[in-house]
Amino acid sequence: MEPPVAELRLPDRLLMGPGPSETHPRVLDAFGTPPVGHLDPAFIDVMDDTQRLLRATLRTDNEWTIPVSGTGSASMEAAIGNLVEPGETAVVPGNGYFGDRMAEMVRRAGGTAVQVETPWGKPLDPADVRDACAEHDPAVVGVVHAETSTGVRQPEMSAITDAAHDHGAVVVADCVTSIGGVEFRMDEWGIDAAYAASQKCLSCPPGASPLSVNDRAMAKILDREESVRSWYLDLSLLDDYWGEERAYHHTAPVNNVYALREALRLVDEEGVENRWQRHEEYAEALQEGLWALGLEPVVESDVRLPSLTTARLPSGLEPGEVVATMRDDYDVEIATGLGAFADEAIRVGCMGYGAHRGPVLETLGALGETLASAGVGVEPGAGVEAAVSTLGRR
Ligand code: PLP
Repeated sequence: MEPPVAELRLPDRLLMGPGPSETHPRVLDAFGTPPVGHLDPAFIDVMDDTQRLLRATLRTDNEWTIPVSGTGSASMEAAIGNLVEPGETAVVPGNGYFGDRMAEMVRRAGGTAVQVETPWGKPLDPADVRDACAEHDPAVVGVVHAETSTGVRQPEMSAITDAAHDHGAVVVADCVTSIGGVEFRMDEWGIDAAYAASQKCLSCPPGASPLSVNDRAMAKILDREESVRSWYLDLSLLDDYWGEERAYHHTAPVNNVYALREALRLVDEEGVENRWQRHEEYAEALQEGLWALGLEPVVESDVRLPSLTTARLPSGLEPGEVVATMRDDYDVEIATGLGAFADEAIRVGCMGYGAHRGPVLETLGALGETLASAGVGVEPGAGVEAAVSTLGRR
């Protein structure tokens, strides 16, 4: 007979990778609140609060702003799967892993994906998006505001939405790795639909993922000739639950919504702009620390994300081995590069609760020791020293 499954015991890791990030203790407490029913009037209030706080965090007035039940990919698939009708064309990014995922979702929705080919590690050029719109006449244009696979922040979001709107397309933006940590202004930038996740700069466990859709995008969805291929993610049906009626559609993951509400309350207390600023400050310290340890930036500073840094290792080092040593010897989670950078770079997050002095210095300290023990001629404390002096200059 097999022995019984042991009590759950997991290592106490510092989460400084591309997500999930460190969970805020108040968010964990909220998560542990005993569930009420998903149609209980008390939970309806929680839904209302969460929607209100989400609008403020995304900088939007969109009525249709909800947490989708599922991780960021569910919210992403809800956006793409509802907006793209079979036979339609969508112009999407070709400069990273999540642009590729967007393209795949467009195809599965029955559409044709045209990718704006741009090297990984560089942002899209709005002129290229404009050219692609002129050539392919898309119904939808996708843009990844924060590309977690490379660490690129897409600048000039308004230039991209202008190009799309001039051709009559709606714009869907991925703000999974920017929500609550990197400047993102949905309405001001003219974004028609935006999806996000909870486990990055919001420091909340994964499972309830923000989605906001404006009237223009919603009109396109309600005007579809063919039903959305996913029943679960069909926004016209989800409206029964999240709209005025508050009728059963599916059993919402109430604890995830409690947690998200608390995470958004923390954003509100700090002020979303202050939070963007905090991420900038600690990311700068982290990045200065990485360069002091001999790593090199993959992304130019003007388009480098604060929430996720991709850094080339000194030559001869295997990213997978560095990541394993950080995890096994120091209990710090970071990640290897992806795609074009898989064999040469690591990715280090600076998100939410992790975007603070302690986590940043601990990560740099562990990385310094890891590099020195791998034979790199570097002072193990150089990263911490550089970060401390960067923070001290402020
Ligand atoms: N988009 C981006 C930019 C992401 O970084 C991620 C996840 O890391 C996703 C989409 C998908 O989110 P999830 O892994 O929560 O399903």
